[in-house]
Amino acid sequence: MKFRQFLFVAATLCSFVVIASPVTQAAEAKNQITILYDAFGADQSMTKDWGFSALVEIAGKRILFDTGDNADIFAANVKAKGIDLTKLDFVILSHRHADHMAGLSYVLSVNPTVKIYAPKEGFGIFGSSLPSSFYRKDEALPAEMRYFDGKPPEVMKFGAAWPNARLELIDQTTEIAPGITLIALISDLPGTKELKELSLAANTPDGLILVVGCSHPGIERIVEAATAINPKIQLIVGGFHLVAASDELIAKVVAALNEKYKVEYIAPGHCTGEPTFAALKKAFGSRYLYAGLGTSLALGPSIGSDARRGEGPNFDDFAVYRKLASREER
Ligand SMILES: [Zn+2]
Ligand SMILES: [Zn+2]
Repeated sequence: MKFRQFLFVAATLCSFVVIASPVTQAAEAKNQITILYDAFGADQSMTKDWGFSALVEIAGKRILFDTGDNADIFAANVKAKGIDLTKLDFVILSHRHADHMAGLSYVLSVNPTVKIYAPKEGFGIFGSSLPSSFYRKDEALPAEMRYFDGKPPEVMKFGAAWPNARLELIDQTTEIAPGITLIALISDLPGTKELKELSLAANTPDGLILVVGCSHPGIERIVEAATAINPKIQLIVGGFHLVAASDELIAKVVAALNEKYKVEYIAPGHCTGEPTFAALKKAFGSRYLYAGLGTSLALGPSIGSDARRGEGPNFDDFAVYRKLASREER
């Protein structure tokens, strides 16, 4: 082997190590977020549809955040990524909209006893309860005209759409595991007034990782609540609900995330909106992480993804090296 050829082979081998090691580390540490449901993406083995779901593997936990809009599509996407839903620590349903919940029937078909966190809403589909003192009484009425013959239970329980599911309802911001908090906020916007939404905040040595479903209470309000846990927000993933927002509102939110809250990385998806993708990309530059359907974002001190930052699908690194190699041989 000529010296020049030797150098090239050595350099290629070194490149191999550099390229391969982050993948191996991610597989061992399992600190990553994989997008399982969204309406944009480059992974041809998966089906695009409106809705959101992500597998969050962090701090030794495997968390399914939302379940998409259609159980069959969700099941196919889960299988395409080779994900085993029987090995989950828990499921989080961010809010009651169908584009985040419809895949739950599939989750329950393979893992019927998994714990599911969902927001507590009065008479909501996740079930609820109220003290019977909530309704006014009229002692003068005959028993047969009174609720429960005038002797209601102290706490009245209301059913869930999934009666056998292990639902745990979250009423206010709660740390559900060490360093893992569900932020509970209520939307005040017309159309979703009083809708309660849960966002996932994982506190890591590198800052807070925030996963949002639809951000109906407002992404700024969610981020503000998250800074109470840790003022350093390393990454936000999910839907920011600016899909129909004006350029003025988009600019205001982008500036708040970038300048006021100094969010380090942004990986928007779902209902964030196309003009907002563009505005965030412009503001965040290389700190904008592409998070289309099928993307796995490797978490850690410097967050990366299996896609080129902000630019969609990855190019094949090995194809580049093969091209270089053939040029060298010629
Ligand atoms: Zn929604
Ligand atoms: Zn949604």
